[in-house]
Amino acid sequence: MIFTAEREKIRAVVRPSSVVDGVYDNIYHRLMSLEIAPGARIPIDVLAREIGVSQTPIREALSRLEREGLVRKEHLVGYSASPQWTRKQFEDLYAFRLLVEPEMARLATLNMTPKDLEILENAAADMGNGDAPVDRNTRYSRFARADAHFHDAILQVVGNDVISNALSSQHVHLHIFRLMFHTRVTKEALEEHEDLLSAFRTGDPQAAFDAMLIHIERSRDRLLSAFE
Ligand SMILES: [Zn+2]
Repeated sequence: MIFTAEREKIRAVVRPSSVVDGVYDNIYHRLMSLEIAPGARIPIDVLAREIGVSQTPIREALSRLEREGLVRKEHLVGYSASPQWTRKQFEDLYAFRLLVEPEMARLATLNMTPKDLEILENAAADMGNGDAPVDRNTRYSRFARADAHFHDAILQVVGNDVISNALSSQHVHLHIFRLMFHTRVTKEALEEHEDLLSAFRTGDPQAAFDAMLIHIERSRDRLLSAFE
């Protein structure tokens, strides 16, 4: 999961450069739109030519993407897009989410300020705005990122850095987005988020726990069809 806050943090330690930022966004979009397929090689010279910059900002952007787990670098081979999850990786990650996220939802309910609730309401609403006439790639990409943002916002309310970092290092949204290509996107996720929000609104920790558990189980079942 890459979130805005995390990306800003990463950017802050890299030397500021609008050229590198532009190149970064360009390659990021190619990865998210599957124009660069999972596992595909990323030739630096070709990218430099296509984007119209020298190889230096390309290398800098790629090393940033590598730190974020979206690309990998192999000795003598160079950069490639992170491979698609295997079924085992997917199942392991969802087992972890099922252990952690319902409890985070319960704790978030106990910590929730009106401001927090407003942030979560807005994050959930962003996901519902996916009906604009855009191509499937853009819609899925937006959906997966908005979902990641919503789940991250719940973790922020709890403020457990170990758990937030453990989840964000998995880059869930990128992988889910790529899996969504092989599945049917439904409105069910939005309804499940709504159940969660209503537990937050009424301040019912057990209802929030249950709603998150059901949401992650169903999300897993929806995406599992990608492996069949
Ligand atoms: Zn969700």
